[in-house]
Amino acid sequence: MKLREVVIGANASIFYRFDFSKIRGVYYPRTEAEAKEAIAEARLKGLVVTVKGGGSGLSGACTGGNDERIVLSTLRMRRILGVNESEGYVDVEPGVTPDEINEFLAPYGLRFYVAPSSRDVATVGGILNTDGGGNDTWVNGTMRDNTIRARMVLYDGRTIEVTRNGVRSEDAALEQELNRLHMTIDDIASSHGTLGFVTELRLHVRPVSEEEVIGGVAHFDDAAELGQAIGRLVDAKSPIRYGEAIVMAHPDIRGDLRPPLLIMQFPEDDLEAIRELVDVRVLTDSEVEKMKDIRIKLPKRNPVEGVQLALFEGYGLHDTSLERMQEVVAQIDDILVRHGYVPFAKYGHAPSKWYVGNNEPTYGMVMHSREIRPPEQSPKEVLATILEIVDACEELGVTPKPEHKWPYSDMAKKTRLSQLREVLGQGFNNFIFCDDCAEALAKMV
Ligand SMILES: Cc1cc2nc3c(=O)[nH]c(=O)nc-3n(C[C@H](O)[C@H](O)[C@H](O)COP(=O)(O)OP(=O)(O)OC[C@H]3O[C@@H](n4cnc5c(N)ncnc54)[C@H](O)[C@@H]3O)c2cc1C
Repeated sequence: MKLREVVIGANASIFYRFDFSKIRGVYYPRTEAEAKEAIAEARLKGLVVTVKGGGSGLSGACTGGNDERIVLSTLRMRRILGVNESEGYVDVEPGVTPDEINEFLAPYGLRFYVAPSSRDVATVGGILNTDGGGNDTWVNGTMRDNTIRARMVLYDGRTIEVTRNGVRSEDAALEQELNRLHMTIDDIASSHGTLGFVTELRLHVRPVSEEEVIGGVAHFDDAAELGQAIGRLVDAKSPIRYGEAIVMAHPDIRGDLRPPLLIMQFPEDDLEAIRELVDVRVLTDSEVEKMKDIRIKLPKRNPVEGVQLALFEGYGLHDTSLERMQEVVAQIDDILVRHGYVPFAKYGHAPSKWYVGNNEPTYGMVMHSREIRPPEQSPKEVLATILEIVDACEELGVTPKPEHKWPYSDMAKKTRLSQLREVLGQGFNNFIFCDDCAEALAKMV
């Protein structure tokens, strides 16, 4: 086994036990032409292609399951190709990160406003394929809202350019067929590398905001009150520029914070309007920064004993599930405890926005959950717990972000991707379409 194969296996999800013999090649193309060569070789050998960006995705999609496959890394495709200040866009290769783009844009007074917490490692190719966003998604939208165009190489080597309005290709018949199917950027968003290799993106950029904001915190007696407050902020389309809720956090990691609480930043002029909805206490800038720092480090700190694990990330609470947050949390915790886990932390962007599989925008809270893993837990038991949580979420009206939902139950997205793959080819990340996809992943826990 070569070291680079081990490196290529590394990813942030809980799925990392690989059969390395199934990885039949690892490629680091520097250009689209080199990527085409690698894809052609895979096709000649009848192998599946799995694209890997920063490996920070949490759903295991960049692993390729354990299919016989080649891995195509975007590690060396990270050039910024050009910026158009008057029209407000930047052209980039897929392996560049939001932080790198913003470092490049700083002298122009421009900014790319997609900021997942992983923005220092996640690549724009990966972020589009998971439709990521950060705690400003409420204001700035997800990756699909900020992508003007994506260029993609298909399994047979043809290329397409996809915008919000349709597809262009050097192959007129292909272009016509994809436009008949109304393919747009919405389809590549959260497609998890199943349609092709994105080789170039045109992204919206805007002038750096000069807006002054103030920060504050609101405390709640329980999660139901917190959920209802977030619901009021959503309904009022409140001008929250930064919003992070901490529902609960283990004493080992929460510092002097007392959840449930909501940390917010907003324009000073809106203080009174926000106070009508939430009982917010204004904080100094350094107090806000300290709270933000504790929140951002929650997923990075382990308890004094044991290790934390994200069994199932990205619970989307909205409408009634937001109002009933206490009940949602209690039911998830009940499942966790029955399976031997200790609930460790629940927190997330709020208010926030995400898209469900039929491309409908949804608003509420994207809640992350961390749990302390029992010492002995077989992959089968882990899978059983995850599937029980998925079922409970469906009953409770929680719609997980597509990022985390696809292996189990986002049938609308899977059906659409299958329809497009009939035309685009079926050589990318095929394991996602197998009936036993979840079980295949569970063996890798
Ligand atoms: C600490 C931490 C914090 C996080 N915070 C957030 C957050 O705030 N918001 C959020 O949305 N997510 C967050 N995530 C999740 C993760 O960062 C996102 O899913 C990210 O968008 C994935 O980007 P990546 O480059 O790492 O992609 P990878 O994990 O490498 O791949 C993800 C998927 O994209 C596909 N892919 C990658 N590049 C291409 C390409 N060029 N062409 C075609 N397919 C491609 C892969 O095949 C795979 O299916 C976080 C993760 C961690 C570890």
